[in-house]
Amino acid sequence: MNQDVDSLDPADWEPMRALAHEMVDAAVVHLRDVRARPVWREMPGGVRAAFATPLPEKPLPLGGVWREIREALLPYPMGNIHPRFWMWYMGSGSFTGALGEFLAAIEGSNLGGGNNAATLMDAQVVRWVRDMMGFPETASGTLVDGGSKANIIGLTVARNAMAGVDVREEGVAAIPAPLRFYASSQVHSCHQKAVELLGLGNRALRRVGTDEHLRLDLRALEEAIAVDRAGGLKPACVIGTAGTTNTGAVDDLRAIATLCRREGLWFHVDGCIGALLRLAPDHRHLVAGLEEADSLALDLHKWLHAPFEAGCALVRDAALHRGTFAVHPEYLEEKPRGAAAAEYPHDYNLQTSRGFRALKLWMILKEHGTAKFGRMIDRNIAQARRLAAQVEAHPELVLMTPVTINVVCFRYAPPGLDEVALRAVNTEIMLRLQEEGIASISDTELSGHHCLRAAICNHRTRDADLELLVDEVLRLGREVLSAP
Ligand SMILES: *Cc1c(COP(=O)(O)O)cnc(C)c1O
Repeated sequence: MNQDVDSLDPADWEPMRALAHEMVDAAVVHLRDVRARPVWREMPGGVRAAFATPLPEKPLPLGGVWREIREALLPYPMGNIHPRFWMWYMGSGSFTGALGEFLAAIEGSNLGGGNNAATLMDAQVVRWVRDMMGFPETASGTLVDGGSKANIIGLTVARNAMAGVDVREEGVAAIPAPLRFYASSQVHSCHQKAVELLGLGNRALRRVGTDEHLRLDLRALEEAIAVDRAGGLKPACVIGTAGTTNTGAVDDLRAIATLCRREGLWFHVDGCIGALLRLAPDHRHLVAGLEEADSLALDLHKWLHAPFEAGCALVRDAALHRGTFAVHPEYLEEKPRGAAAAEYPHDYNLQTSRGFRALKLWMILKEHGTAKFGRMIDRNIAQARRLAAQVEAHPELVLMTPVTINVVCFRYAPPGLDEVALRAVNTEIMLRLQEEGIASISDTELSGHHCLRAAICNHRTRDADLELLVDEVLRLGREVLSAP
């Protein structure tokens, strides 16, 4: 082997071209036929063994590598690209988005910044998101890996803005009065991670009670703020959730915005699920007030179905945003001309090197347009309402909480079963649905009651898929109860 010509490029591009075409063909079939496969299946021992092999020192031709992927990886996915996947809260991806990931890697730019077209595209996508959200032109934003990171970015700016000292220079120990952040008890777990990472401690995140629709209780919020203030703490920020993960509850964002202005608090919105409701003509009224937020986190790998990872943080005051993250070591100095003459996206982000996630978003937004995404969001909500109506109409099923958007919490509950028996039978239904490859749903707990949960964030789901879910839940429930 001639050391001088060793490179990662193939010696001959033609076989590589043929193999790459084969992969694309297989990818098309994989997505086209997804409905015909089980949503999920358990991996046999041989598959687990394939992922326990040691670090390769010697080469294997790419055709062999591809064979291993086809045999051991592709048949055993999480299942979220399947039309009957409604577990946790996911998007279902898209072929165009996948092409975007591929082309981004081929283009290869590092989106830390610089004077290049990729950086312009990144900034354009952020502006598009800003416009979708009704934020002013002076607002800033940054594409991140997901909603958790977008929330961390928003809450970091909030902490620094509200601390009363220069936190970057002095650290959290210098904050004169302990900061307090408020959210409903339904708040996503990433906010706990955020306050812990921010050095404020889990106790800085006050979980406030909810009303009967599991929305943040505003009276309880006002009381908590007053009590903390009287106790020498510093109320700093209210986190409103536009669509909770558990049930899809949407806090009264307009009212929270008004309260924050009156009390002088930062208003952050976790819009990971619901911010994109702004695109949906039938439901955008639910998130009125979101555009008043000081910072907003959204997830574009949920209702935009971008392949993972894609999230975005927006901040109303760009100077505060930049002031939280910008650092200028001499090796990153901006230059008047040439490849480094540009704004630097890493000034708005924790990352220095950044992937080119803007390309897949740019492609899917251009190809489909926002109106279509809005229609598909409305359709998922209509599907959730239909499922809820079917549940309510059936004597053996119980709807556990009203449906606001696209999350349906229900359980199989024929008369005569206590809570322990209900938990056992519903857990078994959920596991058999998964193991038989029929559908993937999750379970949750609502005021101490265990139940099943379907979150319909899926552009492949048809009404008939949800009818099948109802039929199969009933079939499995009866099967479990009739077993000796
Ligand atoms: C999904 C979700 C998050 C976390 O987003 P990731 O993209 O998984 O990091 C945060 N908040 C809410 C309300 C979510 O639904």
